[in-house]
Amino acid sequence: MFTPENLHQWDFDHVWHPFTQASEWETAGAPLIIERGEGCTLIDVNGKRYLDGISSLWTNVHGHNHPGLNAAIAAQLGQVSHSTLLGQSGVPSIVLAKRLSDLLERIDGDEAPLTRTFFSDSGSTAVEVALKMGFQYHQQTGGTQRCRFAALTEAYHGDTIGSVSVGGISLFHEIYRPMLFDAVRIPAPDHATPAEEEVCLVAARELFAAHGDELAALIVEPLVQGAAGMRMHSPEYLRAIIAMARDAGALIICDEVAVGFGRTGTMFAMEQVGCRPDIICLAKGITGGYMPLAATVVSTPIYDAFRGPYSDFRTLFHGHTYTGNALACASALASLDVFEAEQTLAHLPSKIAALSEALANLPGQHIAELRQKGMMAAAGLSHSLGAEARVGHRVAMAARNHGVIVRPLGDLIIFMPPLAMTEAEIQALGEGVAAAITDVLGA
Ligand code: PMP
Repeated sequence: MFTPENLHQWDFDHVWHPFTQASEWETAGAPLIIERGEGCTLIDVNGKRYLDGISSLWTNVHGHNHPGLNAAIAAQLGQVSHSTLLGQSGVPSIVLAKRLSDLLERIDGDEAPLTRTFFSDSGSTAVEVALKMGFQYHQQTGGTQRCRFAALTEAYHGDTIGSVSVGGISLFHEIYRPMLFDAVRIPAPDHATPAEEEVCLVAARELFAAHGDELAALIVEPLVQGAAGMRMHSPEYLRAIIAMARDAGALIICDEVAVGFGRTGTMFAMEQVGCRPDIICLAKGITGGYMPLAATVVSTPIYDAFRGPYSDFRTLFHGHTYTGNALACASALASLDVFEAEQTLAHLPSKIAALSEALANLPGQHIAELRQKGMMAAAGLSHSLGAEARVGHRVAMAARNHGVIVRPLGDLIIFMPPLAMTEAEIQALGEGVAAAITDVLGA
């Protein structure tokens, strides 16, 4: 039998937690161990309830334990859980690939539509695949000198070696630098002000002029650079750098791993930008947050560059064991059904307004800045204690005493509620964080 106590001990003895300092984890007392979920609430092994303020790391869309999603996964379980896509196909993966290309028609633009899905299992692999596709595309279409990628300052695209190479967050990425390839780093604004963007665009123009011929692709997180701390840029800025990259002959890769599936108020962030990428990376919310699944969706001209007689070796020699997993694809299809049945996107405006209000009601004397795009937001804590004091971390820990799970990014407290969170729950989420801020920083 498991008891909270022996789970606690086995965790300390056997689990390696991501992005977590072990010495701190082991001395912080009993860990939070989740046993169940109900809607937007997570319940721990002691029966204590918490609002899931970060959608279980930006994945959950329609709430936990959703009957429609559960039923769809159970139905697929009664068929088959997994079969491979290498040299054969599977029902849910075919239907999902078709449905994704229909859905991606929402992104308008002059470029060819996104029609062809390559499945993998995390945001990092979706990006890794996109980078290899972008590179190999040029190798096979006469652009053999195009071996580099342009990426934004402070970019975050995942934790595998290729995705870290295009990443630009020193704290996470610097130690790996000797293992990585070098990206052309395009300045990105922090607050999306026109003056700041203009400075970035001037520098970007010079970088594209100097390195354009070497570029396989530009990779961007459209509209919001999430892990960098909700850094924002305008659709105009993005259109401008995309145009520069295209003029230079580079492909465009949009990483919608965090912003996709309704996060910024539209199904895809690129709908607000109005141009189509050549390659889009989707993960996190794609299954409603139920199963690990990612999709790298490309346009027909990209796919066509990989066609040819076997002996030409134009094949994409890449594939993960669980590519196109049937349970994961079934949950993604069910999640899209729930988007329609529950009119998830239509209900967003009032929830986004409730989130703005919750942010505005945080104790103003401790708040340096607020950032929000749709259902992604951050509150920056103002304090004079320095990074060592880890105030963001302490507030996130204190929030648990108030029945709320949030995570810090440095001194920012991130708010990423499931799209299904009710306005009353969003208000309670804000109140829980406000109480935690007061606990840590005083009234
Ligand atoms: N791209 C972006 C924009 C992300 O925010 C993340 C994860 N936070 C990733 C890629 C990597 O996804 P995963 O953690 O599923 O590998």
